[in-house]
Amino acid sequence: MTFNLLQFPYSALTKKAFGLLISIGFSIIVSTLPPLFAQPYLDPSISIDERIDDLISQMTLEEKVGQMTQLDITMINNERQQSDVSLNQEKARVLLTEHHIGSFLNGEAVPAQQWLDYINELQRIAIEDTRLGIPIIYGIDHMHGASYLQGSTIFPHNINIGATFNPENAKQNGRITALEAGPLGHVWNFAPVLDLGKNPYWPRVYETYGEDPYLASKLGVSYVRGLQAKYEAFPYQIAATGKHFLGYSVPRSGWDRTPVDLSMQTIHEFHRPSFQAAIDAGMKTMMLNSGEVNGIPVHASKELLTGLLRKKMGFEGVIVTDWADIGKLYNYHHTARSYEEATFQAIDAGVDMSMTPRSLKFNESLISLVQKGKISEERLNKSVRRILRLKFELGLFEHPYPSGKGTENIGSPSHKSIALQAAQESMVLLKNQERTLPLSRDVENILVTGPTADNKRNLSGGWTLAWQGGSEEQYPEDMMTIAEALQSEFPSATVTVMESMGETGSSERTEFESAADEADAIIIAAGEEPYTEFVGNIVDLSLPDDQLDLIKAVNNTGKPSVLVLVEGRPRIISEIVDDTDAIIWAGLPGFEGANAIADVISGSINPSGKLPFSYPQYVGYFVPYNHKPSASYHFDPEVANAIEQDDETIAEWEFGHGLSYTSFSYSDIMISNSSITANETLEAEVTLKNTGTRKGTEVVMWFISDEVGKISRPVKELIHFERVELKPGESQKVRLTIEPKEDLIYPDFEGKPILEDGYFKIRIGDREKRFYLDLADTEWSSY
Ligand code: BGC
Repeated sequence: MTFNLLQFPYSALTKKAFGLLISIGFSIIVSTLPPLFAQPYLDPSISIDERIDDLISQMTLEEKVGQMTQLDITMINNERQQSDVSLNQEKARVLLTEHHIGSFLNGEAVPAQQWLDYINELQRIAIEDTRLGIPIIYGIDHMHGASYLQGSTIFPHNINIGATFNPENAKQNGRITALEAGPLGHVWNFAPVLDLGKNPYWPRVYETYGEDPYLASKLGVSYVRGLQAKYEAFPYQIAATGKHFLGYSVPRSGWDRTPVDLSMQTIHEFHRPSFQAAIDAGMKTMMLNSGEVNGIPVHASKELLTGLLRKKMGFEGVIVTDWADIGKLYNYHHTARSYEEATFQAIDAGVDMSMTPRSLKFNESLISLVQKGKISEERLNKSVRRILRLKFELGLFEHPYPSGKGTENIGSPSHKSIALQAAQESMVLLKNQERTLPLSRDVENILVTGPTADNKRNLSGGWTLAWQGGSEEQYPEDMMTIAEALQSEFPSATVTVMESMGETGSSERTEFESAADEADAIIIAAGEEPYTEFVGNIVDLSLPDDQLDLIKAVNNTGKPSVLVLVEGRPRIISEIVDDTDAIIWAGLPGFEGANAIADVISGSINPSGKLPFSYPQYVGYFVPYNHKPSASYHFDPEVANAIEQDDETIAEWEFGHGLSYTSFSYSDIMISNSSITANETLEAEVTLKNTGTRKGTEVVMWFISDEVGKISRPVKELIHFERVELKPGESQKVRLTIEPKEDLIYPDFEGKPILEDGYFKIRIGDREKRFYLDLADTEWSSY
């Protein structure tokens, strides 16, 4: 490396460098020293474009490629384990000074101070020991709160946030993640997941906001706003990452990272909107789908990355690969014959940064491709510009070091109470036969059984403390299990815990039977253990047999039975639904989750969550609520042309289902006009009334149905939702405005909007109204 004083950033001069300068004759050189910020890229008073121009003009090919590389913590720590958040300075220095690496990722839940020491030192090497002093951008998976930080506030996973139908919860999740992780220099968070949870087998359903594009858009945007806002505790900003562009969530097999077939029309109509909305809201980065769509791995798809994401969707931020996915073009998808060819495919398709993350093959390949003239330096510059822009916009050049301020708020009572509220709002009461719930405050004996009866890790799922969740003893002391939370809600009752009922004839079984005999109510906490990504692949969606047997045994006792489903995806339970008195879907409610569950069981809160996905009834048949009219076909040969169609999904419970301890009625639906043109708006109104005896919150959902479409239309689509709290007997008018050019259009296979004349239905609760869209005399073509 040649040392050029004029290229050396003034602000990055170290004491050591000063010493050296003095020894070679400081007085001679000082007259040649540039004024403050003589390196224009260090001058915050000039535009970011000018700063980038200046910096990029000074960068070597190797430095550019280094900025496009993201390596994992195991490349710079001591033990080569993700859990080891400690810097091996020698390793880091080599990677930063010789390979010019611009980004690192990962870690596990360690105390704040340990993160601070590690990131501070890493940035110090980047700023002081490298030629240009470009700060590192550190990436991390804080998926539901700062989940890789000890003592942090852990929110429910996104699937629960979806069930709250409350954008404020998504925003608070982003905000509190920023407040707790931001001071540590975690400036790049790999969230939110904007994929749709449409294939219940897929092990990442719980990371999504559910199956509906409109709901995912609203919540995704709120999260991005919460995370990317400016906060006083640190002078830089945090970047959000939309994941995983695009179509990742609907693998035909249900297994993670396996092929997806999606028409472009389906992409535009269902999978694009949540990403588009987040882009329009200023989301700064995008991570790619590791799988292939229509036979082409997304990492090598110029059509999706450059054609769709850049050109049609207007995304100008940084596109980062997912884990080792360039290499996978070569060793998994087999679309490339070598790592170098794989690198060409990804860069040519539009990738900016490679999460390599445990080798330097990407760097070697990209340098070689440029040297051979296969990739131009101009192409590289485009990506490097985006990466530098991100670093400039976040404020890293001015503030590369973690602020360390406000760390005393990590896991503060006020943060936890916000996470608790989100968990409470996410509880979905699926069934409540003869008002089994809430349990009477006078119960004397409660038996709690099932794998999550007295367990913490199951409540939080994967991406908590560690990639696959932590070990039970790593969870905070003050986090409650369901049994503990029930004991605190029912202080005078005896709460007995027996996770399983034991084998027939065993002493454990006898004990279980006598505990059941004495119980006034039996709570079965069933569901799943933590898993993340492909580790959660399954071949059978049914709840495992031992749990179904346990539920059946409980139901046979004749005691009031309450099933609590703690699960990341809907496991099939149809065979026990009829005989179980009450069923609560608790999803993955996080560290405050047990309290939320106990609150619903005791009636301290009135449940208001609604399913953000259709809960399947059958192992082999599932369709989302917004399916096409032809989703089910019955032909009656006795009656000519008698094809029965049903717009109900064949689900155990449909999207939007969720009971309350009070009841609501919808009445007096009115629309402003029975026919409108494309330039007019339609006002709709309905009266919502709390007809029960206690205060409650109803999630009001407005759906639209387009009766006839050239491209078949979903039987219904969510177009608006809001939470309305009403006292007993209270009523309120709720309103909707429809703008045809916004609300009644749908995309064709190129993403161009189609608006067709004809009849539409507005639906809310059990009410509906029909109106006509008249396109005569408009610029819109009618078919
Ligand atoms: C996951 C991403 C995650 C990344 C970094 C990948 O395996 O698919 O969602 O952000 O790892 O940990």
